This record gives sequence, C-alpha cells and structure tokens, in this order.
Amino acid sequence: MAGADLKSMTIEALGRFLSEMGEPKFRAKQLFLWLHQKRVLSFEEMTNLPASLREKLEGCCYITGVSIVRKLSSQLDGTVKYLFRLPDGEFVETVLMRYEHGNSLCISSQVGCRMGCEFCASTKAGFVRHLAPSEMLEQVYAVCRDTGEKISNIVLMGIGEPLDNFDNVMAFLELVSHPDGLNLSHRHISLSTCGVVDRIYELADRNLQITLSISLHATDDETRGAIMPINRRWNIKELLKACRYYTECTHRRISYEYSLIKGVNDSKEEALRLAKLLKGTLCHVNLIPVNYVEEAGFHKSPREAVYAFQKTLIDHGLNATVRRTLGADIDAACGQLRRREIVS
Ligand code: SAH
Repeated sequence: MAGADLKSMTIEALGRFLSEMGEPKFRAKQLFLWLHQKRVLSFEEMTNLPASLREKLEGCCYITGVSIVRKLSSQLDGTVKYLFRLPDGEFVETVLMRYEHGNSLCISSQVGCRMGCEFCASTKAGFVRHLAPSEMLEQVYAVCRDTGEKISNIVLMGIGEPLDNFDNVMAFLELVSHPDGLNLSHRHISLSTCGVVDRIYELADRNLQITLSISLHATDDETRGAIMPINRRWNIKELLKACRYYTECTHRRISYEYSLIKGVNDSKEEALRLAKLLKGTLCHVNLIPVNYVEEAGFHKSPREAVYAFQKTLIDHGLNATVRRTLGADIDAACGQLRRREIVS
C-alpha cells in the first residue's frame, strides 16, 4: 500500500506526523479515536475533521482493513474461524473462542512462519512476511465488527512467531491496550513463542504484564531438536533460564504448551522429566493432543496417555490441565485454512 499506515502509529507518532503537515496536535487524538475506538474504515466518516484535512490524509496515507474470505462456525461450541484477506492479497487466520468467562481471540502475527516446527501447518506453507501492527489490530476489530461482541482476551497463537516480528508486536501491544483504543489490559493477553531466547530476555526487560506461553513439546534436546529447529539454536536449558529471568522481572506465571504426539513425547519418563525440569518454577502446563497435519504424519496420543501424563505432572506438584478441543468440526488447527486457500 502506498503512503503511511495510520493505524500502526501510536498517538505520539500521529502527533508528529500531523504536525509535520502543519496540523495542530489535538487532531492526533481525534484521529486516534476514529481509528481505534470508532474503528471507521474511511476518511469521510471522520466528521469532526475538516474536509481539507481529510482530503490531505486520503492523498498520503491509508486505513488498513481486512476482508472476510471464509468464515467457519462450529456447531459444537460456537468457535468461529476466520480467513482474512490482507490489503496486499495475502491471507491470515483468526479464531474466536467463546468461553464462559468471555471471548478469546487467537490472532496471527506473520503471513506464514520460518520456525519450521515439524508438526505445524503454518510453517509448511512457508514464510511470506511480517504483519504490521495495524494488521494484527484489524483482526480484532474485524471480528468485533462482524459479531458485535466484545473481545476480552487475545492470544498471539495463530500463524507466525510473534517474537520473530518483535517491534511490530510490541507496537501492537501498546496500541491494543491504549485507553483511547480497545483498552485491553496486558493481563488479558498471551504471547506464545517456540523459544526465541534473545527476544524473551528483551521482552522480560520491558516488564509487560502479558502472559508468556512457551511451546515446549519435549523434555530432551534430541527430541525437541528433531521436531523444533529453534532448539538447535537455543537448547532447553537456555530456554528455561530465560523463562526464569522472565518471571523474576515480571512476577508472571509462565504457561508451557506441550502437544502430546503418540510415541514421540508422551511417555511416563517424559512426564517425570518435565516435572523435574519445571519443579519450583511459577508455571502452568497446558497439555494438547497434537492436531493431525498431513505432511508431519504425527498422531494424537490416546486419551488415556494424555490423562496419565497429566496425572504424573500433578502428582509431582505441577499445575497441569488438558486443553479442551474447540471447533473440532471446523478444522481449527492453525494454518490449515490459509494453506488450503493458497494451494487451491
Ligand atoms: N510460533 C508461536 C505461536 C504460534 S503456534 C509458537 O510456536 O508458540 C501456536 C501453538 O500451537 C504452539 O504451541 C504450537 O507449538 C502449537 N501447534 C502448532 N501446530 C500444532 C499441531 N499440529 N497440534 C497441536 N499444537 C500445535
């Protein structure tokens, strides 16, 4: 898109942008409210801005919008999966999950992913580009517009590795929690990473109150390295050291995601090793039976194995839950809709 991406700018950046155009500072707040509170998609609707300014803005910047290409609604639990088209024609996925405590939205942070996890459909389709802050926000705004419902939690767990798009994700976090915008507290946002250790330290130093989720999925370097290439760059010991630092800085509990793959990482020895690795740390373990992805050929651990794994963790003093499967009838596994769209 040509021109400046207004929706990605903080209120301060908007102020600088407008003052360079010779406009008074207070216009920044007016513009910010149109973009992030009323969430209009055209300059004509910004009725308290002079027509001359609207015309000038039209000529030198744009308002990011996404369109719904496909929308699948689960008949089982109200989960809705969206496939959005971005301004340049690329696609991303967003999933709305309805819980008793409110609506949670799982958003994408990149078009594709370059982390290469063996079990993940997002990575199989390759990496195209980072998402701008406005494109992450617009996934949220578009779902609010479509459903008329409030979003109370956001999880950065869709397509992409958020810490591989660090600056844009940080800008998104600032914008989404701004009092003149969606005003969503950082405590209601989770960021999931495969373990980009240098960025975990950087995130810790920012001392945000978001929840950090670590996709661990294995307890020894050989297994983890075989299914997650990032482990060959930073091993489990280095990852857990960074996690301890994160908790020291933020006092936040870390959530560890562990996808159970039949015969790969679901034995009793592995549960015991996991309990030992995480002993004494402020954490929660989320067990997820792996979603089948064709190319990987990995299969879900049987139900009994999942609950036995959970029991071993609990018996050893860890906090562990099994993630409820949502949207089982709509192919909710991450990356599969985009995948289908680009190969068809
Ligand atoms: N790149 C980030 C966030 C996106 S993936 C990360 O790795 O955390 C979101 C979560 O889904 C991660 O925990 C990831 O490991 C998991 N995941 C990916 N493919 C999966 C599959 N086929 N079955 C179960 N979980 C999967």
